[in-house]
Amino acid sequence: MASVTFLSDGRDFLYDRIHSQFTNCRSRGFNALVHVTFYGVRGSTPCPCPDKQRVGGNTSCVVVDSDDGSPIVFDMGTGLRVWGTDLDPVDDFHATALVTHLHWDHVQGLPFFLPLHQQGAVLDVHGPTEPGSSLESAFATFVNPPFFPIHYSQLTGDVRFHDTADDSFAVGPAKVLSRAVPHVGVTNGYRVEWGGQSIVYIPDHQQPLDDHRHVDERVLELVDGCDVLIHDAQFTATEFAQRPHWGHCTVEYALEVANQGGADTLVLFHHDPHHDDDMVDELGRHVADLAEPTGVSEVMTASEGLRLVLGD
Ligand SMILES: [Zn+2]
Ligand SMILES: [Zn+2]
Repeated sequence: MASVTFLSDGRDFLYDRIHSQFTNCRSRGFNALVHVTFYGVRGSTPCPCPDKQRVGGNTSCVVVDSDDGSPIVFDMGTGLRVWGTDLDPVDDFHATALVTHLHWDHVQGLPFFLPLHQQGAVLDVHGPTEPGSSLESAFATFVNPPFFPIHYSQLTGDVRFHDTADDSFAVGPAKVLSRAVPHVGVTNGYRVEWGGQSIVYIPDHQQPLDDHRHVDERVLELVDGCDVLIHDAQFTATEFAQRPHWGHCTVEYALEVANQGGADTLVLFHHDPHHDDDMVDELGRHVADLAEPTGVSEVMTASEGLRLVLGD
């Protein structure tokens, strides 16, 4: 079982919440460590409720970083604001955001990201587009009065948008693969390979209604033997039966995806706003039990402040 260490970094939010989980995740004889830090783990809407504080109430935001390049952030939910408070101010901040889709829980942190209130900051934002639209025009619509006090271009830093569908591209030393995945509306999943580690991010995934063992081939292409799969874990089977068209899946289906795709570690993510801390724990134990006879070697539940340390 992986060990857990608590770091005390003295900053306002995560001073006693960042806890590192060391995993050797089939490391391939490599060099620098890769960190995966969870700043927002909740799906659908923020839920700052007393019974959800241990897991956390901020929405989707996960940072991947290493010593040899600028950070990559999966999604810009309200957890993005928290990451901003955790960063040292620098003159030339640069990061790349891989946005899965434009639902509120994945984008609404953007204008609250502190580095974008500093001169010289640059954020490259990749994400999918609806037909006849562009990523930039979508943000220009909802980060704009009357939905928000200012237009996104009035932020001090520079936000650069990149329409991204099925593609592969480099972000510094990292390789990124993007593929459309089943959800409600156009949605990407991402695979990042960096420093010999592979991290796959599929936070919103519509489970098939008729065949709970079928996994879309583009999803399997993303997962393909990855070290860490961060996956939608929104529903129990009962909840899925009540909301089959909401674009999500059961925790059992998350394991099905991990197992069919050959993932080493599954991180249950995008927790339902109605699931309190105890229920998230219980679902994690349930999936870990189910995973024992499979090829998935570890199941974790994402919580705010969890940091995975991947590598030698
Ligand atoms: Zn979502
Ligand atoms: Zn969504």
